[in-house]
Amino acid sequence: MKAHTRESGMVYLVGAGPGDPGLITLRGVECLRQAEVVIYDYLANEQLLSFAPEAAERIYAGKIGGRHNQDQEEINRLLVEKGRTGKTVVRLKGGDPFVFGRGGEECEALAAAGIPFEVVPGVTAAVGAAAYAGSPLSHRNFTASVAFVTGQEGKDKDESAIDWQHLALGNGTVVFYMGVTTLRRNMQRLIDHGRSPQTPVALVRWATTPCQQVLTGTLADIADRAEAAGFKPPAVTIVGEVVALRDKIRWFDSRPLCCRKIVVTRAADQAGEFTALLNAAGATVIECPTITLVEPESWEPLDGAIRRMSSYDWVILTSVNAVRFLFNRIEALGLDARVLGTCRVCAVGPKTAEAIRGFGIRPDLMPADYKAEGVVAAFADRDIRGQRILFPRADRAREVIPSELERMGAQVDSPVAYRNLLPERLPPEAILALEKRSVDCITFTSSSTVLNLAETLGPDLLADLLKGVKVASIGPVTSKTCRELGLKVDIEPATSTLAALTDEIVRYFSP
Ligand code: SAH
Repeated sequence: MKAHTRESGMVYLVGAGPGDPGLITLRGVECLRQAEVVIYDYLANEQLLSFAPEAAERIYAGKIGGRHNQDQEEINRLLVEKGRTGKTVVRLKGGDPFVFGRGGEECEALAAAGIPFEVVPGVTAAVGAAAYAGSPLSHRNFTASVAFVTGQEGKDKDESAIDWQHLALGNGTVVFYMGVTTLRRNMQRLIDHGRSPQTPVALVRWATTPCQQVLTGTLADIADRAEAAGFKPPAVTIVGEVVALRDKIRWFDSRPLCCRKIVVTRAADQAGEFTALLNAAGATVIECPTITLVEPESWEPLDGAIRRMSSYDWVILTSVNAVRFLFNRIEALGLDARVLGTCRVCAVGPKTAEAIRGFGIRPDLMPADYKAEGVVAAFADRDIRGQRILFPRADRAREVIPSELERMGAQVDSPVAYRNLLPERLPPEAILALEKRSVDCITFTSSSTVLNLAETLGPDLLADLLKGVKVASIGPVTSKTCRELGLKVDIEPATSTLAALTDEIVRYFSP
């Protein structure tokens, strides 16, 4: 990244893309990573802010309807002011900064103030909407030109600056931005200037996000349809024969879990991977962490075990959390993976193994069945009499591993590496969705997720809120806990992995 002097600062106008956080550019992420100040828009996905350092100042510059001009001047002033402090400033804008983004005006203000800036383009809403709604903007058989048009032009003025004649004639694709409230008038203008009333039209709202909505019709009837559906901004309106292709090539909203709302109960810092898998299948995910992971009440037992680690024959790790807490503690003690010495490592399953590899250690053993009983089985045909085994675990872990391995003659130390606590409260949006009966499925990926939810809600509320909601459990142990709490398990994969659970949910909801 270009160096800049401390005196001048640097402002990056970064296109955030249309919504899906994956659609920002690498360059945009690079800028965010260096940001000391981020000034972000209403349309920029807030998830992108997590790329910025925690210490970066975050300023929301969402526009308030009807005060656009005044707000824009304030934003220009803010950019200049922050730029002058010598800091690295990222102005994060929805879509592309130079497509109806007023990025031009912001650059003018910065140029006039002598503040260096750079512009990082983004995927503009029309391009994002076209891809995710399955309506190309150009196509050899239908159209050879595309126009991006503001739906607001001429709204407050008598005369429109748009050459409607030109837009209407021929078969060019027209995409309106900011055109929901003015939809009827603009569709009529195209008809009045000669475009066929039967031309296909698609309204695409919150394009590229899990809440994307697409409404299709024709120039003649789309306004009535939008009104009947109560269709609201933000949306782009795509007009042209290309829209008809959607029936054949739509992919985003025909994915198996499209329109399904699924609750994920994993701890907040662990939900990401599962959420991504479900999102990829089209689901809308509501994260409702029922677990907070915190350090043990005392580090003493684990610290002692770490210090004599090389004297163990085996260390058994049965979750990514155990791996993380163990290795973080090793680091906190000023040590590194060498404390393991010749101690061999057993990972309960592929995810745990991957986490272990992340710390530079190759696991020696992984059971065929990814659970405590599987670990026990994996040791059954080894002679572990007299061997010393370290099993760093959660405070509320099951006793299967220590008790069974001790029965086989091993000596097992199981210090607490972390605790599973109830969160202070459940996210209100998750509870609201359950109350509104809009949730299709709730997922439990460990016994603690179910136990904690039951404990937080109480048995009556649990039963009531989950009425009609399908229960998906990662495996037999979790399912057993569900049943003990009076829940019927509808979905359980043959192997206990997030990928298998996702596949099973997809299968369940597929027609
Ligand atoms: N600079 C932005 C446009 C900002 S103007 C870009 O390049 O996309 C605001 C308009 O953009 C909205 O009124 C809407 O028409 C459109 N828009 C932005 N994000 C959108 C999205 N995710 N889905 C549909 N339309 C969107």
